[in-house]
Amino acid sequence: MADWHTIIRERDFPMIEQAECDGRPVIYLDNAATTQCARPVLWALENYWRSQHANVYRGVYCLSRRAEAAVEETRQICAEFLGAASAGEIVFTGGATQSANLLADAFALTELKPGDLVLSTEMEHHSNLLPWREACRRTGAELALVPVTEEGELDLDALDRLLERRPKLLAVCAVSNVLGTVNPLREIADRAHAAGCAVAVDAAQAMRCCLPGVRELDCDFLYFSSHKVMGPTGVGVLYGSEAWLERLTPPRTGGGMVSAIREDTVLYERGPLKFEAGTPNLAGIAGLGAALEYLQAVGRRRIAKREKALLQYAEKRLRELPGLRILGAPKQRAGVLSFVAPPLQAYDIAMLLDSQGIAVRSGSHCAIPLHRRLGLSGSVRVSPAFYNTAEELDALTVALRRSLEGAKKAGVPVGENARG
Ligand code: PLP
Repeated sequence: MADWHTIIRERDFPMIEQAECDGRPVIYLDNAATTQCARPVLWALENYWRSQHANVYRGVYCLSRRAEAAVEETRQICAEFLGAASAGEIVFTGGATQSANLLADAFALTELKPGDLVLSTEMEHHSNLLPWREACRRTGAELALVPVTEEGELDLDALDRLLERRPKLLAVCAVSNVLGTVNPLREIADRAHAAGCAVAVDAAQAMRCCLPGVRELDCDFLYFSSHKVMGPTGVGVLYGSEAWLERLTPPRTGGGMVSAIREDTVLYERGPLKFEAGTPNLAGIAGLGAALEYLQAVGRRRIAKREKALLQYAEKRLRELPGLRILGAPKQRAGVLSFVAPPLQAYDIAMLLDSQGIAVRSGSHCAIPLHRRLGLSGSVRVSPAFYNTAEELDALTVALRRSLEGAKKAGVPVGENARG
């Protein structure tokens, strides 16, 4: 009897099973960038375009009502997936980046003034850093970053010192997209709230690693992208507690978010619609709903356990390779493993792996401040998902060994005290 993951890999992920590029098979290990769509997601997308396509909230006719019901159903699925109090706390966006921008803009409009302080961290993806930097620049507020320790954890003592300055908001990732550090979110939220500071969580890398619900985490906001949870691109979620969504002014305006308008005044819809100006990505929302239902059906705990085991196996295998240095040693790691093999450049390693049919990510992974903190210009990142196999990680190890030995033979001093 085959394992559950072998069965679903063959049944549900045609792109993984048949992955090829230029006529060669490909081992896909870049799931932190994007995951492959599960087959039920492909069906949901097809079903949407075949039988559901009509605009929402504007039509009285049957098709429009059906499309609207499907959007609201996905809102409910998202609320349950996140452990939110109600579907009224789920705003659909174009993805994690758009969620962070929407929130930062709303926060700037409603909450920030010159002299205020906003916190982010040294380990953020640019998507959870630049929107806050811009919000601060526009309002005259200050942005400060919580530093990262040598092990690749957030420095919580430094956070405490920053919290003494009563910041308005802390924007923090649940899982680092470079080090895989799993941040102690509840502890962070408790400390922040005690200082009157709101907490916004970038959960882009955390949705498959069994993140606790938003009420358990006690965060005020949380965002993620559909395409990192086996769903389509171009859609994501911004969770905001009901009280916060009520309080914030929408930074984007247009159709679908107005309840009344006069010459000089406008009354916005309440709840998530207030933040969803214009026609949403209806097909994407249908796909996102199918993706989250799929993860629930496979079993979120099972997925998290499998991905953890694969990551630990990858780490064990990569540690066998002389000259290769894994970044960070956090207490808890999820999703990604990054490494360097100086003096080889990350780009060259990824190209060598690509020439052997293995897809990994190289560069700064949109986290330049973190790489600067680590004294690096880039790294190579491996990120297995539950549909990957130990054999694929063995193949990665063999390909890497071959690449490093080949470079050594060519006279590159790999592992000889070079700083990565
Ligand atoms: N935040 C983190 C931690 C990420 O890893 C990513 C993407 O890799 C993002 C935000 C941005 O996600 P998207 O490009 O889907 O908006």
